[in-house]
Amino acid sequence: MDIGFIGLGNMGFPIASRILAAGHPVVVFDTQPDVVDRAVTLGARAATSPKDVADRTDAVMASLPSLQASADVAIGPNGVIDGRRARRFIDLSTIGSQVAQHNHACLSERGFATLDAPVSGGVNGARNGTLAVMVSGPRSDFDAMLPVLQTIGRPIFVSEKPGAAQTMKLVNNLMAATTLAATAEVMVMGVKAGLDADVMIDVLNAGSGGTHASRDKFPRAVLPRTFDYGFAAGLMVKDVRLYLQEAESLGIPTALSQAVATLWENLLEQQGPESDFTTIIRPLEDAAGVTVAGRAATVQNPR
Ligand code: NAD
Repeated sequence: MDIGFIGLGNMGFPIASRILAAGHPVVVFDTQPDVVDRAVTLGARAATSPKDVADRTDAVMASLPSLQASADVAIGPNGVIDGRRARRFIDLSTIGSQVAQHNHACLSERGFATLDAPVSGGVNGARNGTLAVMVSGPRSDFDAMLPVLQTIGRPIFVSEKPGAAQTMKLVNNLMAATTLAATAEVMVMGVKAGLDADVMIDVLNAGSGGTHASRDKFPRAVLPRTFDYGFAAGLMVKDVRLYLQEAESLGIPTALSQAVATLWENLLEQQGPESDFTTIIRPLEDAAGVTVAGRAATVQNPR
């Protein structure tokens, strides 16, 4: 099966590389020519637009940074929708269920099957092929795409309902946003009280307070002060806002998610959308007058 891939960023590039390495012919497009060139050196073929990708492949996958980019690529002018050959569109981006359902409705009128396939597991999961891939859409199309989806991680079928996997992804990311913010807050408290940051993470991970934030994000990007986990704060804020919108439209309690959202909105204001999401700890450190550094922190990179 010839695969199209649109959006070669932090996630898309390693995902497309794995699909290529598994032996599938891949045609790529990105608005940044340098990432397209890098993919071509790995054996991909370059396209000139999303339509061009869909003219030359059987199934088009996308990993894009915003709701607008997803809609433009899927159903905009010169989009996948105008492609003559592809009949499947698989969106790995996190865009919420509303945009996913709109893309699905427009594409299905033109004979496309769509799969929502948002992923979780970060840049390392993308590199190592260990992403959780949550999928909604027609079961037969999920089954047909399984050999490709299995090269990037563990595909989990959520539902036939369009957008359902997007809702599942927002649930996952609200948990990730909450545990990272909570871990940052308690680490600042402990260090201010005189505890050692490395010891704190060891204890959390051995005890009942351990989360993905303490097991992976803190040791990898906060304690060494590298803040290079690979997920932009702007993308986390996008996901928290989408969660709140969907939760509020269901009329359910959101007291905790609103408190979490305030912390993330503050981060966006103070550090900007391009800052790594692990910098959520910085405003808390500034307020407390401490730095949560581990033994591995370099002198050159103390902040
Ligand atoms: P990114 O900003 O690093 O990459 C996005 C890529 O899309 C860039 O190369 C950009 O040039 C390209 N692009 C933007 N608009 C385009 C358009 N109209 N046409 C073609 N290319 C376009 O973002 P990312 O971190 O790779 O995230 C991609 C998606 O995956 C987002 O929806 C994000 O929420 C989700 N996600 C990210 C992570 C992570 O850890 N980074 C984890 C899980 C899910």
